[in-house]
Amino acid sequence: MDIDDLAQRVISGERRALARAITLVESGRPDHRAQAAKLLDAMPRDRQALRIGLSGTPGVGKSTFIESFGLMLTGQGLRVAVLAVDPSSARSGGSILGDKTRMDLLSRDPNAYIRPSPSQTHLGGVARRTREAVSLCEGAGFDVILIETVGVGQSETVVAEMADAFLLLLAPAGGDELQGVKRGIMEIADIIVINKADGDLKAAATRTCADYAGALRLLRKRPQDPAGFPKAMMVSALEDRGLSEVWDSLQELVAWRRAEGFWDRTRAEQAKYWFRQDVRAALLAQLDAPPVRAALEDLSGQVAAGDQDPAAAAQQFLAQLRDGLAGKS
Ligand code: GDP
Repeated sequence: MDIDDLAQRVISGERRALARAITLVESGRPDHRAQAAKLLDAMPRDRQALRIGLSGTPGVGKSTFIESFGLMLTGQGLRVAVLAVDPSSARSGGSILGDKTRMDLLSRDPNAYIRPSPSQTHLGGVARRTREAVSLCEGAGFDVILIETVGVGQSETVVAEMADAFLLLLAPAGGDELQGVKRGIMEIADIIVINKADGDLKAAATRTCADYAGALRLLRKRPQDPAGFPKAMMVSALEDRGLSEVWDSLQELVAWRRAEGFWDRTRAEQAKYWFRQDVRAALLAQLDAPPVRAALEDLSGQVAAGDQDPAAAAQQFLAQLRDGLAGKS
């Protein structure tokens, strides 16, 4: 495969080239990994999209929101990419996020590109591939990249590591209690979006929004927040209401962060984070090489039999690894 040619075609905005490039970064084959690294390194550094993380439990209205919000943006002439980190696909191999059939109109919009979550064996792998797909979409000249994830814990933390701003989508609560949203998730949200503020749910949405606005005021202020952020807002994705206000708030937030240096600082921290993740993943992958596995088997047998202390065996193993064990076949 001619990687320079592929890179040029991605940069020039060829959709098929982008799809091929993302397939390449999703591959786990070592030779593909090397090509993917070269491809990613060829992306222009001066093209920056606004990367928006979006999390919410199933049924809260993520796909409806992305469809309406995405169409609003493409209607303004912006190019929008939708990617997903789906922890359930890490387990089952089947993706429920970023499914084109869930975003019917947007998926047919020439200014939008929707890519379902890659299926991988573990969340870390899925997240890494998605981060790389984000870089490719950015290189391809998209203006806004929406990164969707299900709110079930770890996944929004890794999405926050690849996003410039983070939206947490919630549905109106029945009572006046907060919906058991984990504090950690609230702490990474820039805007808590209460969806379904329409019809019979409008009153409950208003209460829920006020509750969250109150809860956010109690959180410790983060240096990267301008006055008034993080905030809670109400929308109806179904009836297309409140979406432009969310967009205005996002732009206000991002303009402030750019002006104050937080944008660049955060992106630099994120780059370091993904570098460390990649090093870790590559080191762990070495353990899968057959001669390394054999050495591990052998040493764990010795440890089990009481012939060596686990610590001594570990030292011996690391020494063998340093001596080039992983490179032998
Ligand atoms: P997801 O699982 O988070 O992607 O949620 P969906 O977008 O599939 O929406 C789940 C259900 O909520 C669907 O039946 C939607 O029609 C409904 N829904 C989504 N947004 C709204 C909204 O703004 N108002 C109302 N009333 N229903 C909504």
